[in-house]
Amino acid sequence: MERIVVVGADAAGMSAAHQALRTAEVTARSVEVIALEQTSDTSYSACGIPYLVAGLVDSETDLVARSAAQHRELGVDLRMGTTVTGIDRDRKVVS
Ligand SMILES: Cc1cc2nc3c(=O)[nH]c(=O)nc-3n(C[C@H](O)[C@H](O)[C@H](O)COP(=O)(O)OP(=O)(O)OC[C@H]3O[C@@H](n4cnc5c(N)ncnc54)[C@H](O)[C@@H]3O)c2cc1C
Repeated sequence: MERIVVVGADAAGMSAAHQALRTAEVTARSVEVIALEQTSDTSYSACGIPYLVAGLVDSETDLVARSAAQHRELGVDLRMGTTVTGIDRDRKVVS
């Protein structure tokens, strides 16, 4: 089993996480994907913030493209409130 650790669970991070799972399925590799996010937010549209400020979007939750629960249902081990403080690539350790 390969373990892939993604740091940051917004647009780029979660795209990478799900792409890794999709690729593993196609290539029949056994992969565990863990995503570590320091905040309590995932996959929200920063691009939509101006519309929220302008009152064209009602609620912050309307900016969320995919919730943490949805990511987990799709197979990503998403851990919120988790700050990465170091990456040791030689030892393959994320702190
Ligand atoms: C107001 C606004 C309007 C925008 N409008 C547009 C637009 O119209 N079109 C467009 O293409 N783009 C737009 N963007 C830009 C777009 O939103 C960003 O390009 C996109 O959010 C980048 O996503 P990302 O995942 O690369 O980075 P980020 O959104 O910065 O995500 C990085 C994630 O990593 C987490 N993280 C960072 N360090 C750590 C750590 N050490 N440990 C754990 N987690 C960590 C952060 O908390 C964050 O959740 C806009 C942005 C803003 C702010």
